[in-house]
Amino acid sequence: MATPRPRPPLADRVEELLAPGGPLPIVAAGDPVLRSGTEPYDGQLDPALLARFVAALRITMHAAPGVGLAAPQVGVDLRIAVIEDPAPVPEEVRLARGRVPQPFRVLVNPAYEPVGPARAAFFEGCLSVPGYQAVVARPAEVRLTGADEHGRALDEVFAGWPARIVQHETDHLDGVLYLDRAEPRSLAANQAVLERWTQPTPIEAAKTLGFELP
Ligand code: ZN
Repeated sequence: MATPRPRPPLADRVEELLAPGGPLPIVAAGDPVLRSGTEPYDGQLDPALLARFVAALRITMHAAPGVGLAAPQVGVDLRIAVIEDPAPVPEEVRLARGRVPQPFRVLVNPAYEPVGPARAAFFEGCLSVPGYQAVVARPAEVRLTGADEHGRALDEVFAGWPARIVQHETDHLDGVLYLDRAEPRSLAANQAVLERWTQPTPIEAAKTLGFELP
């Protein structure tokens, strides 16, 4: 009987993942890595490998395309995520959702807490749950702490759509999927969202599908 092979160190696994080059395969819901939570980043990847990993996350996010990507979504259980949103949406959508452009950022060891009681509810989706969207009520503003990829401290308040993105990605690092927080009756196939629920707010969807908004 073969003895089980020890799991290779994280840095070796990341090297292997990056070897082919280009966008990384995205892990889908059902994979334990999306539920296990992550190790805080503490130098497990040296600066050069960290830079290559972050570049690969960014390429993968662009290729998907998406506005955020967390390390577990490429099978790496480290507390690292990237965000970037050019926000190519009509003016009325921008106003209703606060969907303002979010420049590229690397979030290392992020954590968030709500700022004030206001909540905002909109359809969102996830690259690891392809084909569907659902309405999630989230704190409208959050304070995000952590660091950037150079180890510089991060302590910033996010509002509007960027607040939604940083919550969604930080939740991934805690093994939480947006569906855990979603209104179950709002679950909609992408095609249905495209055909029926592209209004700036989900008020019509809530009335018709039968779910509550905050
Ligand atoms: Zn996601």
